[in-house]
Amino acid sequence: MADRYLSFAGSAPGRFLTRRLGLPQPAELIRWSPEHPGFTGELLHLTAGKPDLDAQLAPVLARTGLRPGAGSPVAVVLDATGVRDVETLGEVHAALHPVVRSVAASGRIVLLGAPLDHTDHHQYAAQQALEGFVRSLGKEAGRGRTVNLVRIAGDARSAESTLRFLLSPRSAYVSGQVIEVGAGPFAVPDDWERPLAGRTALVTGAARGIGAAVAETLARDGARVVVLDVPAAEAEARAVAERLGGRALTLDITEADAGARIADALPAGLDVLVHNAGITRDRRLVNMPAERWGSVLDVNLGSVLRTTDALLERRAVNAGGRIVGTASIAGIAGNAGQTNYGASKAGIVGLVRGLAPRALAEYGVTVNAVAPGFIETRMTASIPLFIREAGRRMNSLRQGGTPGDVAETVGWLAQPGSGAVNGQIVRVCGQSLLGA
Ligand code: NAD
Repeated sequence: MADRYLSFAGSAPGRFLTRRLGLPQPAELIRWSPEHPGFTGELLHLTAGKPDLDAQLAPVLARTGLRPGAGSPVAVVLDATGVRDVETLGEVHAALHPVVRSVAASGRIVLLGAPLDHTDHHQYAAQQALEGFVRSLGKEAGRGRTVNLVRIAGDARSAESTLRFLLSPRSAYVSGQVIEVGAGPFAVPDDWERPLAGRTALVTGAARGIGAAVAETLARDGARVVVLDVPAAEAEARAVAERLGGRALTLDITEADAGARIADALPAGLDVLVHNAGITRDRRLVNMPAERWGSVLDVNLGSVLRTTDALLERRAVNAGGRIVGTASIAGIAGNAGQTNYGASKAGIVGLVRGLAPRALAEYGVTVNAVAPGFIETRMTASIPLFIREAGRRMNSLRQGGTPGDVAETVGWLAQPGSGAVNGQIVRVCGQSLLGA
């Protein structure tokens, strides 16, 4: 859906007027496209404290394709793993204070943190302080710049897929996030441009909207895609599958045997399972009949739990596989009129956190979720104008995201290089002002 305000604010008279009137000034974000697959500018690598990370970090950063430099960087990476107290926290200020202004529009600021040390409350406090710092700087950065924190528990190479994502146009709408990269196993893709080559990915609710964009991105990254949707959407599902060289599978995921039918349809198993199908049936709780509650809970959460269980039990998700759920900021911040939807999406957060360690240990499969904010889709186009306009602007980037923004985040979580990313809920919300 066209955001006319964004186009207007980018024009010369628009810039003048919005500045004079103190209105939001969204910047046109630089997103991935075949013509613009990555940033080409300079990367400034800084440190605060005595870094914990090994010598692998510099080669990892070099492989992003960004040139080392200090002029007007498109990206700044501050290794703050060595921040252990208020004194070394001061080095974060000293390192970034002089350079923030020079970071290019749509540029990236990424802080690297250490795992929180439960035996040292000074380290814990100083590392926790980085979260408040990143979230505050994200709100100040402006001009489409994003600010994120990555906590790295293992070797810097385990975070390579994450750093490549955050330092690229693929993460345009991801800001103010704290992402933990554990010490779990990960595989280095043969080709970082097609990391899913030879893999099979199934996306539920992929006949349209965000699901169709996810299928398209996973296909671009090399996957054979299976486009699942309800029988009523068969024609659209087939059209998406045909366009992407994949196949359509029509079934209602709330059916009791949905997991078994998916497994039967894919005898060689699945490598990527994206639970995207979702519905809303909004009403305040006082006006909500049990049917509205039940249908939303069943599509958005019950069926996700059932099909995940069925597919894991049948070993239909291959070792090294990835499960990606779809939560929502409504499940994190809550939303009036959406007790059913908010509960279902918070349930996805719980499913991810509860299952992730066990799924990795028992099946070699990671479980993460994206939590979209305001995304320009048919769902949000139907919101009344003024509420829609408020929803769009209530984030640090002052605009809505695109289905492609969510899809790129799923693509990063789905790839073999992201094996050390497990149990994470990553918001794709332009740093929404709602929720943490
Ligand atoms: P959409 O309504 O455009 O698409 C949802 C798809 O899911 C449809 O093709 C629909 O047929 C399919 N589906 C619904 N019930 C199904 C079932 N029982 N079995 C199989 N398929 C089924 O929605 P969207 O805006 O693309 O949202 C996709 C996901 O993202 C949903 O989980 C939604 O809750 C979540 N989300 C969206 C936004 C947003 O701003 N659009 C924000 C946060 C979260």
